Amino acid sequence: MGIGIDQAKMFGTKFKPHFNAVRLLKNPKTEVFTILGNNRERITAKAVVLGLGASPRRLEKPGVAELEGRGVSYGAPQYHTPAQWAGRKVGIIGGGNSAGQAGLFLASCEGCEVNVFVRGEGLEQDMSRYLVERFRKAKIKVHHHSNLVRVEGNDKMEEVIFTKAGVEEKFSLDYLLIQIGSQPPTGWLEEVVSLDDKGYIPSDLDLPADAWPTSEGRAPLRYETSLPGVFVGGDAHALTPNRMSCAVGEGHALGVSVYKYLELRHEREAQLKIVSVA
Ligand SMILES: Cc1cc2nc3c(=O)[nH]c(=O)nc-3n(C[C@H](O)[C@H](O)[C@H](O)COP(=O)(O)OP(=O)(O)OC[C@H]3O[C@@H](n4cnc5c(N)ncnc54)[C@H](O)[C@@H]3O)c2cc1C
Repeated sequence: MGIGIDQAKMFGTKFKPHFNAVRLLKNPKTEVFTILGNNRERITAKAVVLGLGASPRRLEKPGVAELEGRGVSYGAPQYHTPAQWAGRKVGIIGGGNSAGQAGLFLASCEGCEVNVFVRGEGLEQDMSRYLVERFRKAKIKVHHHSNLVRVEGNDKMEEVIFTKAGVEEKFSLDYLLIQIGSQPPTGWLEEVVSLDDKGYIPSDLDLPADAWPTSEGRAPLRYETSLPGVFVGGDAHALTPNRMSCAVGEGHALGVSVYKYLELRHEREAQLKIVSVA
């Protein structure tokens, strides 16, 4: 990481630590962007790349926030060693692929009891078929129609309470892992670029039919959002798997589009100058 930063600085990149972007504006005449920070600092640019990442979706139920890090966690269990989970009673909330991978990993840890809580009837709806099949063979207890009500405990989590068909069920668990998807921090861009129903930013071929301005006279470039000159890559990009390699690859590839955009812009500016001189 340090080497990457040194290299970027060598090529003239300026880093702005503690800069939290809260607004993105485009001057319709000059086509120059202004990014406004929450410290009121303004940055101007001819093109913008959004690499905002995504964080786990939070579950707002009593006791969850209070006991986070003391039994409740949003992280993936695979980032810890199997020894940590050996002999533990673990609950996983969620029925998607992250929950599936977490469940299978835990089931492979010696003596770990795995309980998966889902709101619906089955796992098939949100989980890939290969994971569902492996789930059936693994020692995992799936609790259907289960909705979290609250988490109880003082210094650490002790009881987890769900409702099933209107009846409360209490579970004594060592850990509760919440795996209900992720969320990109794109609320501040709602009025600026097209977002999908989960807040992710689509680009070029994935843009909704009417999102791209026809006045632009060209198709969007690869990784270009609905606002010409604004590009997206990494976890915040719609349909991109949340993986380091994807973010790095897209970051590199979208650079080509940014260059192309700047070239087109330069050509347009030059033409306007010729017209005004003539
Ligand atoms: C605990 C954990 C472990 C992981 N392990 C792996 C792994 O083993 N292998 C793998 O491939 N992937 C792993 N991932 C996923 C991987 O980290 C991501 O896919 C990758 O970092 C995405 O890169 P990104 O640049 O899109 O976003 P990020 O790396 O999340 O960077 C986004 C940056 O944008 C900043 N930002 C957001 N909004 C604003 C704003 N308004 N203004 C200014 N700055 C803003 C954020 O603060 C952050 O610094 C892991 C993720 C987590 C959370």
